Order: sequence, then C-alpha cells, then structure tokens
Amino acid sequence: MLRRRRRDAAVQKQDVFADYREITETAEISVKMHGGRAKCLQRLIRLGLPVPKTLALSFPTVHAIAEGHLADTERMMAAFGEVPLVSVRPSSEDPDWGGPGAILNIGMNDARHAFLAETIGERAANALYLRFIQAYAIHVARLDPDMFEAEDLTDAAALRRALSDYEDETDETFPQDPARQLSEVLRSMARAWEGTTARLLRQARGAPADAGLGLVVQEMALGLGQPESGSGVIQFVDGKTGEKLIKGRYLSQSQSRDALAGQKEAIFLTRDPRGPSLEELCPEQFAALLEYGARCRTRLREEMQIEFTIDSGALSIIDAVRIPRNSRAEVRIAVDLAKDGIISREEALMRVEPRSLSELLHRQVDPDAPRDTLVEGIAASPGAARGVVVFSSAAAQARAAQGEACVLVRRETTPDDIRGMHAASAVLTERGGVTSHAAVIARGLGVPCIVGASGMTLSRKANQFTCPDGRIVREGDMVTVDGSSGAVLAGETPLVEAGLDDAFQTLLGWADEVRDIKVRANADTPADARTAERFKADGIGLCRTEHMFFEGDRLTVMREMIFADHTQDRQAALDQLLPMQRADFIALFEIMQGRPVCIRLFDPPLHEFLPNDREGLRELAEALDLPLSDVNRRVEALSEFNPMLGMRGVRLGVTIPEIYEMQARAIFEATIEASRKGDPVVPEIMIPLVSAKREVELVKTRIDAVAAAVRTETGVDFTYRLGVMVETPRAALRAGDIAAHCSFLSFGTNDLTQMTYGLSRDDAGRFMSQYVQQEVFPEDPFHILDAEGVGELLTIGSERGRAANPQVTLSICGEHGGNPESIAFCRTAGFHYVSCSPFRVPVARLSAAQYALRDAAAETP
Ligand code: PEP
Ligand code: MG
Repeated sequence: MLRRRRRDAAVQKQDVFADYREITETAEISVKMHGGRAKCLQRLIRLGLPVPKTLALSFPTVHAIAEGHLADTERMMAAFGEVPLVSVRPSSEDPDWGGPGAILNIGMNDARHAFLAETIGERAANALYLRFIQAYAIHVARLDPDMFEAEDLTDAAALRRALSDYEDETDETFPQDPARQLSEVLRSMARAWEGTTARLLRQARGAPADAGLGLVVQEMALGLGQPESGSGVIQFVDGKTGEKLIKGRYLSQSQSRDALAGQKEAIFLTRDPRGPSLEELCPEQFAALLEYGARCRTRLREEMQIEFTIDSGALSIIDAVRIPRNSRAEVRIAVDLAKDGIISREEALMRVEPRSLSELLHRQVDPDAPRDTLVEGIAASPGAARGVVVFSSAAAQARAAQGEACVLVRRETTPDDIRGMHAASAVLTERGGVTSHAAVIARGLGVPCIVGASGMTLSRKANQFTCPDGRIVREGDMVTVDGSSGAVLAGETPLVEAGLDDAFQTLLGWADEVRDIKVRANADTPADARTAERFKADGIGLCRTEHMFFEGDRLTVMREMIFADHTQDRQAALDQLLPMQRADFIALFEIMQGRPVCIRLFDPPLHEFLPNDREGLRELAEALDLPLSDVNRRVEALSEFNPMLGMRGVRLGVTIPEIYEMQARAIFEATIEASRKGDPVVPEIMIPLVSAKREVELVKTRIDAVAAAVRTETGVDFTYRLGVMVETPRAALRAGDIAAHCSFLSFGTNDLTQMTYGLSRDDAGRFMSQYVQQEVFPEDPFHILDAEGVGELLTIGSERGRAANPQVTLSICGEHGGNPESIAFCRTAGFHYVSCSPFRVPVARLSAAQYALRDAAAETP
C-alpha cells in the first residue's frame, strides 16, 4: 500500500515536471490556467513584439511546487542557454489579486559575476549580484532585510559583506547552482501565494478562495551594453486623467551608474530642456515603442504600460500591463477607444463600473489655479477640501462645532478617530496605504483623504508638521487637501465643482441612448434641483416639502400654525407660508425646465417642528407671547408614543386639511407662473403614508376644489397629476383600489421596509451590524432592497395597480432607488423610473444602461 502511494506520488511528480511550456504564438496558454501575465506576453508575441524567451508554469504546477514537488529546473535553465540569467514573475488570473514580487537576476553567481565584471564593468556586475543576493536572502532564505541593506549597490565591499552575512546566517555558502537558485525561488513564490495572509488579502479583493497562481520565467534582457542601453517603462495616456500623454522613465546604463552612485534621476522619455531624452538617445527604439503602443491599443483594445530594455540598440519588451488608472481616466480611455472605433460604445459603457463614477462627482482643485505643494502622499479618497490644520479628533470636533472647516492630520487613524473624521472636511495621515483605516473610512464618508505622506515630519508635541522643503505647518494654518492627486497645498486654493468633463458627459449620453428606465432625483431645495439638473436627471421624483419649513423665518410661522387654536389663526399662519412655498416651487419648476417635478405633500408629525429642550421652549413662549405652561401643555398634547405610526402624512391631510390645501394652492399658482415664463408645467402631487383608498378620495376632492378655485381666480387653465406614495404594506396590498383614483404610484421603500420588518429605521443601526454578522439578514435592508420580502410587496403592488389602471406610472423613491440592485429589480418589474439622491443619478444612469445591454446581449442568439 505504502509502495503504491509512493509510486502515485512519483507519477504526479513526473506530471509536474512536464507541465511548463514556452510561450510562443501557438502554445496553449490561457488566463484560467497560466494567468493574465502569461497570456498577455503571448498576445505581445503574436503582435510581433520582441519579447525575450519566456516559460509559463500553470496553476496546478505552482500548487504542486508549493506542496513540495520539485520542478525540473535543470531543464528549464538549459532552455536559456549555457549561462542563463532569468527572472520569475507572478501571473495570477486577475492582476488586482496581487501576488509575490518579481525576483530578478536568478543565475548570478561568482563565476557569472567575474565574467560580467570583465564585460560590463565591476560596479555594474556588483550591483546585479548584490540585488539578487538581497532578494534571495529576504524572500527565499527569509533572513532579516535590515542585514542586507546597502548604501551603494556597486560597492565591492558591500557585495562581500552580503555573501559572508548570508553564510553566517544560513551556515552554507550562497547557492551557486542556477538550477537550485531557480528551484528555491519557485518554491518560495508558490508558498508565499498559498500563505493565509496572502489568501485573505486577495479574497478581500474579490478573488475566490482557491485562486491559482501561475509563474513566468523569463530570460533577463539586461540593457547593460553601450552607455545608452538601459531599462524603462512607457505609457501613452495619463493614468489620472486618461488624456493622451507620453509618460514613463528610462534609466540608461551611463545614467544608472550615476544613479547607483546615489544620483537617482531617471532621464525623460521625450525631448526635454533638462537633458538628453530617450527620444534623442535612441530615436529608432523610441519610435518603435510608440508604434508598439499604438499596436497594443488597436489590437489588445487597451491602453498598455510597456516595460522594456534597450541593449546596444536591441529593444526588448519584458512585460506590458493595463495602465493603472483612476475612475476619471477609465472613463476617458473607454470613450476615446470607442470614438476611435477600437471598441464599440456598448463595450465602453460596460467597461466602467457604475459605482466608481461617484469619484468624479466631488469638488476638485481648480486645474488652472497655482499650486503650492507642501507635501505629497497617496491619493486615498477623491475630491478636494480646504480647512485649518488640527492634530487631534477632539480639536476637529471643536472646530466643526464653531462652523470652521478643518483638516485632521494624524500619524495614522484608529477607530477612536471616527468622530474627528466625521467632523473634518479632509484627512491627512503620515502613514498607511489605500486600504488603511483612514482611507477606508474617508472613502465611506466621502471625505477627501491623503495617506502615507511620509515626506512630512509630524510632531504631536509641538502640534505641527514639517514639510520636505523645511516649511512648518502649525495648528490653525489653512491648507487645501487634493485627495484626487495626493497633494497637500498651502492656503486656500480655488476649487471647482464636480469633474463632469466631456468624456464623462459623452459616456452618460451614450448610456441615456440605451437605457430603458428613467432616472429622477430626490431634490428638496433649489440647490438640490440644480445638482439634479447638472447630473441630467430626468426630473424630480420626490420633493419632501417639509424640508422647506425648517429655515429660520419659516419655522416661526410654522410653529404659529401648529399652535393655532382657531381655524382663522391657522389660516393666517398658512397665508404667510403660502408665498414662501410658491416661491420654492417656482424655482424648482424653472430649474427643471419642463421636466416632471413630483411634490410630496407634508409628511412628518407636527411635533418635529417644536423645540425639545427647556431653553427652546422658553424662546418659543417668548416668540408666541404665550405663558410657558401653555406651550408645555400644547407640546405634551402633540406628543405621541409612536410618532412614525401616528399623526403624520395623509392622516394630517385628512384631519387638518388646510395644510394640504395651502400646499396645493402654492403648487398651482407656481405652475401658472412658471409656465408663463418657460416650458409648460404639469405638476405631480403625491400623497404620503396612504393606507386606504378613502384617504385618497378625501384629499383628491379637496385638491380638485383648490385647482378649480385657482383656475377661476386666474382665468388660466392647467392640468396636474395626483399620485400616491406606497409606503405602508396595506397600500401595496390594496394598490388596485388606490390606483383607480390616481395617475401614479411611487414606492417609498424606506417606510415600506420599516413597516414590513417592523424595524425602526432610526434605531436599527444599534443592532444591524450584529444581525448582518450573524446572517439574520444578508444585508442591511435599509441599504440594499430586500427583494424577497419588501420586493414581493412591490411586485404585488405594481401588478394590482397596473391591473386596475393600465396607465398608472410606477416608480421607487426610497433611498434604495440609486442602487444598481434596485434598478435591476425595477426594470424587471416594469417600473417607469427610479428616483435617488442627486449625486447617485450618474451611477443609476450608467447602471440602467448596463442592465439594458446585458438583456439585449442575452436575447441575441
Ligand atoms: C420613503 O419612506 O421611502 C420615503 C422616500 O419617504 P421618507 O424617507 O421621507 O419617509
Ligand atoms: Mg416615507
């Protein structure tokens, strides 16, 4: 039995030995078996680019190596000639899943060093060997990295020291056999991939638990010949903006000798007054690179970043990757490729992740403004903000309480800093990367953030930081944080509103051509309406009118109305509110220029407008000239045990009809006024919190009466549409009765979720995370629409409503409206529009287009 198992293992080993292949035009290489890098190298070879000889190891081979099988590295090395020098790079299915770092110069040993010292000079040979020893010692032998640090890589003494340190630490001389070196490198890279930390990290980036790793072994193209030989990377568009721009760096052999001696400036690629450029040094190779870039663009249908070497005139292409890019560049690249006919418009639309558009929707530093950079770091959360510098969360909260914008500067943030981050208008940290606490939280909050600004020296004691150029920034100094570029600028730099550039507009214009569901915005004020207009919403789907009453002078009148004992007193207060509401509605209609505007009648319980502390009550008594005891009594009388299920919404409309009558009059008068100046307006009036048909009948009768009165008084005719907000389970179930009396039904999924689950939307936060963690709910149903439960009510409501009134317009206007998942649901249910916050309108437009395209593709045989 034991013998049998051994024999099986031997057979398996044999398979492993055989399973690597040279990447040629025709070799069987696939992303699923060999990874993206291997496949990309094959594509480059097929495009005729000069790629050095490369072998690909498949996922199962690398996995077997991690398990302890040995690859036939003797044979592999032999494929590269008598004195091979190779590199090994990872090749996972998706480059975003990470992987072990590349290891170069495998094959360097004493003999090769001696030979290279003769041909390319001792210092360059020292550097090659020492770099390999460093990588091998740290990643393969797992020795302490500090021990192998060297100031000058070209120094012969440093090389000798590294060799003897290696020997001291491992009790063996540095391995001289290239096949053994390669074998050990392959094993360490394979094992690194299978380690728990690496697995968790890539799973967090969306990789499956069993994601495989391929490896590519490539002949080194050293670029160590004549002085202009060297290595570099080149790309043809800017990864931040997507604009056409030749960018990259090149380190020539002569230069790298200087660089190795401490002068680290790479030379420029294109003609530059500061010195010789690659274009001048190697014009032929430079021209070839431009041509290769263009070839990759048209044939790989992507903007690629190309890694290359030039060795005594011979150009080698070592690798090419999709240019790393932010969302803005992603949009421009997709649009430009489609405009040039390289990809279709549909493909351009599908390439952009809808949620990533929100990055483009924030304020940015004015590109034309002078920039005085204090320090740079990693751009971790987009957008720009200005504020005075503070160094603690307490200070941030104190400044915010005084209405002062501030920038929270910390070495790194911890959960204790959450309140400070909420209070700050931007965050800057000395340490950290794009997934650090500060970065993740700031992105969630939508606050601009820069992390890893290691060029600054932070002193918590002195409450200041020192910039790389020696300038000192103290607490209270004004700075501008450019979270999109990663630069902290001195002073109050001018900002521009969201980056809706031409590429963004073009892409969303294409989205509008293919989407089959409208996207409106929830907008309560003229400012919101202007944002909705800028993001090209198809109209306003929900204007919560009560928000208009919270402003200074209106609140007092509102309170007078609430406190009125007699109908005349209430009417007097409402008469004062009428012109204010009318002005608001005129502004909304004018901004939306003929697009539909849906105004919801007053919804919240009246007590929300009353003060709830002693001081506030005293001030109110003073303002109303009433004894404090009267005010207290009235407030008590209005208080309810369950206000969200109490006297609110249409219940107010039925019991105090004057409020809705005033609002209806304001809407109709504004309709006449706005139609006189611009496009004809057909207002939509929506009744909230309905649960019975009779509520609709009663309110409709009164609103019709107001409309008739306004027509008679003004002699102007107009039409309007009356609708019902379906946000109680009963309204969804009785949607048939209700739809017979109205033109539209809009599902308010916030209240509907609250009432379906019996879950307070204001208190659920206390236990929601536990509920999600323990998988009681798959997601917070207030964030992601519960398609099973609340969704069923939506389906029932829409079907019954449509059956009773086939013309009825159906929509959703709760917070779920902008989520891609809700858009999918609403399209399937045949809704006419979704309505969401203005900043989510572009995300919803693109997402709706993608669903339409997916459906069309699925239907095409
Ligand atoms: C809703 O309940 O879904 C809704 C949109 O109304 P509000 O959030 O104002 O209650
Ligand atoms: Mg509601």
